[in-house]
Formats: sequence, C-alpha cells, structure tokens
Amino acid sequence: MCCNARMATTDPNQVFELRPSLKRLRAPNPGLMTGSGTNTYIVGHEAAIVIDPGPAIARHVEAIERNAPTRIEWIVVTHTHLDHSPAAKLLAERTGAGVAGPSVPLDGRQDRTFEPDRILRDGETVTVAGTELTAIATPGHASNHLCYWLAAERELFTGDHINEGSTVVINPPDGDMTAYLDSLAQLDSLGRCRLLPGHGEPIEDSTAAIRTLIEHRLAREAKVVANLPAERKITIDELLTSVYADVAEALHNVAARSLLAHLLKLERDGKANRQDDRWGRV
Ligand SMILES: [Zn+2]
Repeated sequence: MCCNARMATTDPNQVFELRPSLKRLRAPNPGLMTGSGTNTYIVGHEAAIVIDPGPAIARHVEAIERNAPTRIEWIVVTHTHLDHSPAAKLLAERTGAGVAGPSVPLDGRQDRTFEPDRILRDGETVTVAGTELTAIATPGHASNHLCYWLAAERELFTGDHINEGSTVVINPPDGDMTAYLDSLAQLDSLGRCRLLPGHGEPIEDSTAAIRTLIEHRLAREAKVVANLPAERKITIDELLTSVYADVAEALHNVAARSLLAHLLKLERDGKANRQDDRWGRV
C-alpha cells in the first residue's frame, strides 16, 4: 500500500523485460493506493523466482505463469499487504513452487491466506540455479517488510519500502516512522545500486533516491514540529491542514496516518507529547 498521486497510464498486465533474466509484470489493480498497479518480478533463467505475485487476480496469476521463462521454483513476498501477497497461494497451487516470506503480523489489513513454506528472516537467502536473493529486514512501512538483494546484479527489490512516483504510507501501529528511517539508512549502506520498487518504475541511483526520501521525511517532521503549539494541544485534524497543505485532499485520510507516525516518532524523541488524542510541542 502506498499513497499515489499518479494513476495508471499504462496497460495492466503489460510485460517489461528489464534485462535478460528479469521481467516485470504489472498487476491489473491500478488505484489511488496502488498507482499504476503492483509490480511482480520474475528473476532467473534456469529456474525462476517470482517476487511479489500481487493480488489474487486469476488473469495476473496466469500471466505470471505464461511469462516465466522456465519453471518457477520459489515465490517470495516482501510483505503481506493485500496488493502484494495473496496471489502466492494461487500461483503455488498452479506451479508447485515453494512460498517464502515473512510471518504475518496481527495488526493491519494483512493477507491471512499467506502461509509460507519458509519463513524468511534478515540475512537469509533463497537460491535457485544461478540466482541468489538475500532478505533484508526493513520494518517501517510494515513491521514484517523484507527487501530482497540480488548481489550479483546489484539490484534491490524494495516492495513498498521505496516506491517510485509516490510516497509510502506509514500506518501505525504496524507502520513505524523511526523504523522506516532506520531501514532507509541501512539500505543506503549497500552503496549505489538499482532499485526495483513494488509500484512505479526502476530507480537507477539508489543513493540519490534514498537520501531524497530521508530528507523529505525529515522536512515533513520539521513542519510538524513547527506547527505544533507549545502552549496548548491540538488534534491531528487541526494539524493536518497546515502540515499537509501541499497534499491533495483526497489523500488526507492516509496522510493523517503518516502524520500520526511522525507524532509517535517525535514523542519517542522527546519533542512532542499528548493528552488523549491532542498533541503539543515539548
Ligand atoms: Zn504495503
């Protein structure tokens, strides 16, 4: 789930060959929260790994199977939001592939059908002939979020931790702004690589993108602090109009969730406090 100002501009189910042994399919689920649709990746040549099979839409699952250059050995997911993992079950049933990914958290709108054969944790790998993916724990957008590092190609499959063309929603309590920023810093330490996001186009320069994202979040945080009164407390709705004046009103409901995530981080940092659902500056 992301917060997307840019709607679908390309045909759903379009197949993109990003390089030999790497294809991207776009699921036919465009929308306000999914942009032009969820990206599904097929990587490998002697055997394939599918990353984020997407929502349980039969024609998308058929398209994945049809476009796999060889047998699909593993299906891995970055997290269990409903636009990323539900097709895993259908695709596994059709292909006999194993399913790997994180365990499902209790909080939030999660895919309860997701039952991995392998639970993946930080640093663990999924390997098929000639292709090795390493899971990197990146909590923040979702507490169970994993990115996948393809070291041989210096490519990182970012799921919803980093999207292109949209700002990722941080929805507490499963979403956590402190963890999100820490995870971004951790990904920056990989050095410059190519990012392959869950929504949007590939990002060639990870270093520039990650630093821009961190700056964007910290600028928003500074705006929250600047608009929090010290002498009284105000509601999130009151704060929203001043802090997110640049965001379309249709997105204010989701912006309110990210605003809460900022406030919870500021509370942890000792810069904001609250009384019931009203917030003030310390
Ligand atoms: Zn998500």
